[in-house]
Formats: sequence, C-alpha cells, structure tokens
Amino acid sequence: MPTGESNSEWLMDSHHDEYLIGLRIKDRLFREQSPFQLVEVFETEGFGRLLTLDGIIMLTERDEFVYHDMLTHLPLCAHPNPRNILIIGGGDGGTLREVLKHPSVQRADLVEIDEMVIRVSREFLPALSVGFDDARTRIFCEDGSRFVREHPNSYDVVLVDSTDPVGPAVGLFEEPFFRSVSECLRPDGVLTLQSESPFFDGDIVRSVVQRLRGIFPHVRLYLAPVVTYPGGHWSFSFAGKAFGPLDGPYADHFSKRGLETRFYTPGIHLASLQLPRFVKDILK
Ligand code: SAM
Repeated sequence: MPTGESNSEWLMDSHHDEYLIGLRIKDRLFREQSPFQLVEVFETEGFGRLLTLDGIIMLTERDEFVYHDMLTHLPLCAHPNPRNILIIGGGDGGTLREVLKHPSVQRADLVEIDEMVIRVSREFLPALSVGFDDARTRIFCEDGSRFVREHPNSYDVVLVDSTDPVGPAVGLFEEPFFRSVSECLRPDGVLTLQSESPFFDGDIVRSVVQRLRGIFPHVRLYLAPVVTYPGGHWSFSFAGKAFGPLDGPYADHFSKRGLETRFYTPGIHLASLQLPRFVKDILK
C-alpha cells in the first residue's frame, strides 16, 4: 500500500520500501494540501491522535513525549542558563511545550515554514499546542534557514525539529545552515537536531555528525526509542560551541529547575549518549 494511503482501518507509513509502520485508524479528522505538504490528522485505536505530513508519521499523542523530552531536555539541562531558545520546525508545539518548562527561559521563538501545521495543532492537538499562547513565545512562519542568517549572536540554544531531509527541510541538514546556526548562537550556545534513524539512515546520520564536527568543538550523537518512527532507535545530534552534554552539572540543573518529564531523567541523559557498536561504526 503506498505511503499515507489509509484504507478503512490502517494508516501505513512505508517510509522505507522494505519496512512498514501501521497504526489502526478510527477516523480521519483533517486532510488538506498546504503549499508545502499534505497535512492529515487521524484518530487512532490505541495511540490517540496522529499527525502525518505527506503520509509520514510525525507524532502520536501516545508516544510523542519520548521524542520531545529528548530533543529538548538533554541540551537545555546541559546548558547552565538557557534563556533565549530558537526552535526550527516543530509546528506541532511539542518541543515548545517542553522548552517552556525551564524557568530560565525568557524567550522561545518558533520558526515553522508551514502555518497550516500550527493551525492544525491548535485545533486537533491541544496537549501539544499549549505553548503557542505563552507570553514568552513568538511564532514566525518562514524558512528557518533564512531566519538564522538574519539573527546573529541571538540564542543560547537552537533546536531543529524538522521533517526528514526532503523538500523544505533539505537545507536544515547541510553545512551552510549549521554554520549559520553557529553564528546565530551565543558564544556558549548549543545546537541540537533530530538526525534520523541510525538503522535506516546511517548515511544521513554520518554526514550530519561529520558536518557538525567541522564547525563545533563538542559534537555528540544520542539515541532514544521512538515507537512510531522507523527502526525504533532515533538519533539526535548535540553540537556545543563551549561545552559537551556531560561537561556541566546537568543533573543539578534538572533537579533545581523542578522539571516534570515523562522520559528524560539525568540517568537517561547519560545512558542515551552511550552508543551501540553499529552506531559507533557508522560514525567512524
Ligand atoms: N518530530 C517530527 C519528525 O521528527 O519528523 C517533526 C515534527 S514538525 C511537524 C516538523 C516541521 O518542520 C514541519 O511542520 C515542517 O513544516 C517544518 N519544516 C520543514 N522544513 C522547514 C524549514 N526549512 N523551516 C522551518 N520549518 C520547516
């Protein structure tokens, strides 16, 4: 069955030719083509609401906490005083929700190229879009790669919560963008991006880490189990201008900030950075 086509019962995400993820569907709540992608929302049998873009699973209400915890809290807990945060992509609001839990955050700018994703999240994903109306939030509907070039030395942390490296997201995995982010970050700034599946996309993971290593002195890959993404393991790439993810008192930061999380803990912070042999081999 082709990607994204749902019969009466299943949404099948055939992200890779030889591999399918299927979620049993109760109902389709939204379907519209934006200028960038096909945006759909489904009610599922066991995973709550489901957001897909071009038929690819972006998140489900049941398991989104893993991805959003890990993209957000590892870099923010590694940083001693994260005040100004930039999120690129992330139009569903899940990463923004987690960023706003840090009491030190004074400003959270979200740059999402497709305003339809934000509108759909507000309407259908209230558990994720809670942060859109926070006084610290600013939303920009434009290309993140252009935004970073126009905002030098502005942010403590940049989080890239993008779609896969196709279409408008291609540039978000390439060297010119990473260089622009380095200039957009303050001297002790940290970039973290979702960097695809080490099981299916080893070439993408390797090229992202290699490109980052040419720009940032502290680059580390870490993993988390995302049930509804291909291959189970999902990777995130940490790139620090002044420190690595284990250099500071991240456990103290976590406890002093009174963060309420469902997946991230200081133990997971440490464990997620321990890579299996096959992933180490990919990065050689
Ligand atoms: N967690 C999801 C994943 O890992 O695939 C991604 C969540 S979020 C829905 C991804 C968002 O990135 C999409 O809404 C898409 O419109 C946005 N996006 C893609 N390219 C972009 C760009 N160049 N600038 C800003 N947003 C972009």
